[in-house]
This record gives sequence, C-alpha cells and structure tokens, in this order.
Amino acid sequence: MNSDNLPQLTTEIDFEFDQQHIWHPYTSMTLPVSVTGVTSAKGCELTLSNGDTVIDGTSSWWACVHGYHHPDIIEAMQTQLSTLSHVMFGGLTHAPAINVCKRLVDVTSANLTKVFLADSGSISVEVAIKMAIQYWQGKQHVQVGGQQVRTQNKQRILTVKGGYHGDTFATMSICDPDNGMHTMFGDTLIKQLFAPTPTSAFGDTVSAQDTQALEAILQNHHQDIAAFIIEPIMQGAGGMHFYSAEYLKAVRALCDKYQVLLILDEIATGFGRTGKLFAYEHAGIEADILCLGKALTGGYISLAATMCTDEVALGISQSPAGVFMHGPTFMANPLACAAAEASIALLQKGNWQQQVNAIAQQMQQELEPARQFARVKDVRVLGAVGVIEMECAINISALQQAFIELGVWIRPFGHVIYITPPYIITSKQLTALTQAMKTIIKNMTIEQAAGNTH
Ligand code: PMP
Repeated sequence: MNSDNLPQLTTEIDFEFDQQHIWHPYTSMTLPVSVTGVTSAKGCELTLSNGDTVIDGTSSWWACVHGYHHPDIIEAMQTQLSTLSHVMFGGLTHAPAINVCKRLVDVTSANLTKVFLADSGSISVEVAIKMAIQYWQGKQHVQVGGQQVRTQNKQRILTVKGGYHGDTFATMSICDPDNGMHTMFGDTLIKQLFAPTPTSAFGDTVSAQDTQALEAILQNHHQDIAAFIIEPIMQGAGGMHFYSAEYLKAVRALCDKYQVLLILDEIATGFGRTGKLFAYEHAGIEADILCLGKALTGGYISLAATMCTDEVALGISQSPAGVFMHGPTFMANPLACAAAEASIALLQKGNWQQQVNAIAQQMQQELEPARQFARVKDVRVLGAVGVIEMECAINISALQQAFIELGVWIRPFGHVIYITPPYIITSKQLTALTQAMKTIIKNMTIEQAAGNTH
C-alpha cells in the first residue's frame, strides 16, 4: 500500500472538533468542557500542546506505574506488533497470553490458578459477578429424574457503601448508592445489598460495629448472596478511604462462615500501589475471585484479568451451562498481553517496593503540614497514594488549570485532592507535586477568607 493512502499523522490538536464531537469521561456534549491538549509523555512528564511540560501526579488514573514510554514495554509491544497484533481467542491461543497468565498465576496468591483475560476493569468485575453466580448454579443443582433442579438461588451481591467498581450496569449496581454517580439509572439497576462503609482506619483494630453490621446482613440473606465484593484496604473513586486490614480479615472469615464467595477488586490497588504487590497481602487473606486492570499493562494499553480458584472453576463447569458464559472479541489481545508481561516482569525484577516506600515516606512528611490550612479535613498516605481531603466539594476545572500553571498534572474529584504518581518519580518531582497541592489549598483558604467562595 502506498504511504500516500495512509491518514496524515498529526500532533496538532483541533480543540473545536473535540469540543463539538468527542465525549470525555463524565462530561456534557453541550456545556464547554475544560480539556488540555497533550502531545507526548516520557518518564513522569507530559508535554502539552502549547509546548509546556507538567509532572504527572496521576499515573493516568493509577495505571502508568513505570512512567510513560518505558523502553522495555515499548520494545515488547513493537516486537509483538511485528508478528501478531490481534487474533480471536475462540479456538486459538498464543504465547503472549500464556506468558502473561503464567506470570499472573505466579505473582498472585497460590489458590488463584485460573485466568480470564478481559479488556477493561469494569468488564473484569462483570466477569467476576457472572463467575460467582454460575458457581452457585453449579453447586446448587441436583439431578431429579434426569433434570437439573435448582436448590437455592444465590444471585445477589453484597458490598459496602462508599465503593466503586465500574460504570457498566452490573458494576453500577454495586457502586456507592448515595454518591450520585449512578442514581439516575435508579430502577434499572439490580438491587444489591450494602453493608456500612468500614469505619476503622488503616493500622487500627477493626470496629466491632462494622463486623456486626456485616454479619447481620449475611445472617439474614446468605441464601441469596453469591459473593461479597470489596476494594481491599483502599476505597478509591468512592472517596479514597483507607480502612483496617483487620476488617478485611473479618470479611474473609464471615464469607467462609456464611458460604459466600469473596471477590477482591484490586483494579486500582494491584501491582504495588499500596506498598504490597496486592493490597490483600496487608490482611494476609486470599480471594476466591480477583479483579485486576489499570496497572496490569503498566498503563500502555487496555487489559484486565479476572482470576479464580480451581473450586470456582469447577463449580462453573457443574452449572447447567457447563461453560463460563463470556467471550469478548478482544479477549487476550496479544499486544496487550505482551505489554502486561513486560510490565509484570519489570515489577518482578525491579525495586518497586523501595520506590513506593520512599514515595510514601516523602509524601507523609511533605503533605502533613497541609493540615494547618482551613477546610482541610484529613491528610492520609498509604504506599504511593497521597490524599488531602477537604471539607468542601472542589471545582475540578478551576483547580486543574491552576495545577497546570504550577507545572503539575493533578486531577481532584469530589472532596479529595490526591496523587498516585508513577513509582519512578524522583524526589524533586514529588516535591513539586506536594508543593503544588499545598499552594492550591493555601490559595483556596485565602479566597475563602476574602469571601470569594465559588
Ligand atoms: N474497580 C475499581 C476499584 C476502579 O478503580 C475502577 C476504575 N476506576 C474500575 C473498577 C473500573 O475500571 P475501568 O475504568 O477500567 O472500567
């Protein structure tokens, strides 16, 4: 094919077209949206369309843990691209899928032996829910006169308030019911069960009230509940709460007691973010089903995984369908698998743990003084996650622009200004991020004192 026939590659940004035709996350198509053009990214820096560079405090929503344009991941993807960029996974298999799954089985707890490769975090949670329901269908059926008859109906999901698991229909049904993100879908959502948000902080002992409230629901409804799902240790998009590891231990014990599967959603926390490779390690527990995404490929391309135990897989095989009923078109995309394998290899051979510990220590020191400012409700750090929680809601677009002017890329939401930097961030770059957070909050306080609160 003549290269003249190829579309012209350009880095020029047509903001007007963007504004008129392209949706961004959680935006309107009729109100102006504040977006900034980006042309390239390297290490921990984004280059903007006006030529400025900003230090990235987001890892592009927890994903780019090795920073941008890492040579190992680029090379793995380029090599893969030159042989097989995509092929269907029905009836076919390939080395990139096998290689990444070997690593996943290797780095997660020993009981997780089966891997389903999906294409986004939300879908990996959908898959987990479907696995749990099909598992109980397998467990609950008996043969009567040559026919399969269901003995129980375990199809509901139990979760905690304050959680976030995605934007698809089943995942919306288990997100916080009160935070307004999905309330407009009201009656169309499956009615799930919600226990109170765990109240004891990370490092504290578990509150008896929390576990009693959870147990009361399990006692009353366990015959209907297929699985309990939770983000281990850290509730992310629901407000960045870090809760007691003992609560998670209690959850595991209660799930066992009431015969409910435990699904851990490690889409945000997985691959080192909380200081352990997986957040469940803080509690020393194992999941029946584990959801992974975001940093799985180091943030280079979309891929997610749902892992489960032999027992869960066996239950699914015994269900009336006999097979697991899910099979996305882009399942196990070879390019994504190659990126994921390279990313996990980097974690396995690298010093991510020292990097994350150093980030945690530095953030603790540098963010703590923010408590002095009015309207700051809390400052908390766990692993490579640093959070300043405000008493008031934040004007995201105004703050985002102010952050850019300070040379950093930070995207607050709700009441929180937070950073989740790439693990390779230098101490100087990290100081620029924490300094910008304090400057912004100080200015917010001054504006409030001057009566300019908008
Ligand atoms: N679960 C958790 C804990 C998440 O943080 C997210 C994404 N923010 C999701 C699920 C959904 O993942 P995705 O956006 O890739 O669909």
